[in-house]
Amino acid sequence: EEDGKFVGAADVDYAEEEERRMSAEAFQSVRQQLGRSYLPLINGEYVNTAEVIDSLNPSNFSEVIGKVGLISVEQAEQAMQAAKAAFPGWRKTPAKQRAGILRQAADLMEQRRAELAAWIVLEVGKPVKEADAEVSEAIDFCLYYADEMERLDQGVIYDVAGEMNRYIYQPRGIAVVISPWNFPLAIACGMTVAALVTGNCTLLKPAETSSVITAKFTEILVEAGIPQGVFQYVPGKGSQVGAYLVNHADTHVIAFTGSQEVGCRIYAEAAILKPGQKHLKRVIAEMGGKNAIIIDESADLDQAVVGVVQSAFGYSGQKCSAASRVIVVQPIYDAFVQRLVEATKSLNIGETELPSTQVGPVIDANARDRIREYIEKGKAEAQVALELPAPEQGYFVGPVIFSEVLPDGIVAQQEIFGPVLAVIRVRDFAEALAVANGTNYALTGGLYSRTPSHIQQAQTDFEVGNLYINRNITGAIVARQPFGGFKLSGVGSKAGGPDYLLQFLEPRTVTENI
Ligand code: GLU
Repeated sequence: EEDGKFVGAADVDYAEEEERRMSAEAFQSVRQQLGRSYLPLINGEYVNTAEVIDSLNPSNFSEVIGKVGLISVEQAEQAMQAAKAAFPGWRKTPAKQRAGILRQAADLMEQRRAELAAWIVLEVGKPVKEADAEVSEAIDFCLYYADEMERLDQGVIYDVAGEMNRYIYQPRGIAVVISPWNFPLAIACGMTVAALVTGNCTLLKPAETSSVITAKFTEILVEAGIPQGVFQYVPGKGSQVGAYLVNHADTHVIAFTGSQEVGCRIYAEAAILKPGQKHLKRVIAEMGGKNAIIIDESADLDQAVVGVVQSAFGYSGQKCSAASRVIVVQPIYDAFVQRLVEATKSLNIGETELPSTQVGPVIDANARDRIREYIEKGKAEAQVALELPAPEQGYFVGPVIFSEVLPDGIVAQQEIFGPVLAVIRVRDFAEALAVANGTNYALTGGLYSRTPSHIQQAQTDFEVGNLYINRNITGAIVARQPFGGFKLSGVGSKAGGPDYLLQFLEPRTVTENI
């Protein structure tokens, strides 16, 4: 902290030879550990499971990153009972001590930065530079939420003569965290440590395709001193174990990041009161986007092209913040599309271990097939401005740009979650805004413009949770760009922002007549 301002972790500078050497060493050491087994952590013990899955490298799926034990519903129930047993102790643990564990975890992640980045690269196919930035984000979540909890722990004093009035926060109880594979460390860590630092006992169920990196995060929390039963790592099938925990009468908070379909189902199921349940559940769901960048006639096209390419194709478009629509006004449409195509052709695609690589594979065969289907649908409704070939090995899909896409077209409305960009032509800025707002989502959005009235109007009328003006629309930083959307993009307040922890707390007022 400097002048009371939060200062986050610094990313690696791969221009430094020493950093590149450390990264190469980390890959070498991680490669020697591939194929090991990872077990769930229940009540402080790593437990065996009947079911085991292989987590594969999406760049080379003959490479098994790890074998992961999936828990059964009976084991989910054991974890729930352990969480309940640990809760009375954890809720009474001073906030400062809970925050201390987060700071310790942040330290450990900083020490293991290169290794963690390597695991992310190998397990989910994220290019190393972005994997490293993800380690920074995970560290930032720990440090920021630790500070935030200490701030909230002071409560609010409303004393008057003869009367003491205190506004204080208490934990809700048991939190179930269901984390996505696309930010396997940062988002799993952010949701989990928010739940923990606020005094909730927390069960973390990762997406199957990112179970190994979640096991690494588990090791870190254990080493940082998280007590048994307070945090448990419960990999399992979403449809069984995830659903069981969401529906459990003892669950108080569900923090989810993932698809709109699953998020809506969780929201609905969580609303149903179960026998014995004496509270209503709180759901935080961060879902999809169909994010647009508007380019008006005053835009700096050099800047706009770079920003759109990064936003659309970074991590192969597999960020819920990614740009999947560009809305371009008529006078510059042709020039923009031409330059966009040229810039996209120069992307480095393939070797995720190299800091210069921008585009890697997509997560798995299902994703690849689904994205390919969307590409076929796009071909039936729009023009192909560019379709790049993809590397042969691994689950690669070459970036695709569709032009002359109609605002209501399939590729302009549905979240594809891949390297597919729809370019839409509009008459003017007013139409651009209307088209941008014409989806079910409201997550991120961008505007490239040098027209003050347009910039002003976008701030009020562009319906997104995170609006970025004259820059790329991904890569939100903790305590700088608190992140999250509304409409069907999600419910709950922004990750990395000042309201986030409140969702895991129950406020109380205590008045004493003195
Ligand atoms: N926070 C990330 C960003 O700003 C996106 C998170 C997500 O994809 O869920 O790019």
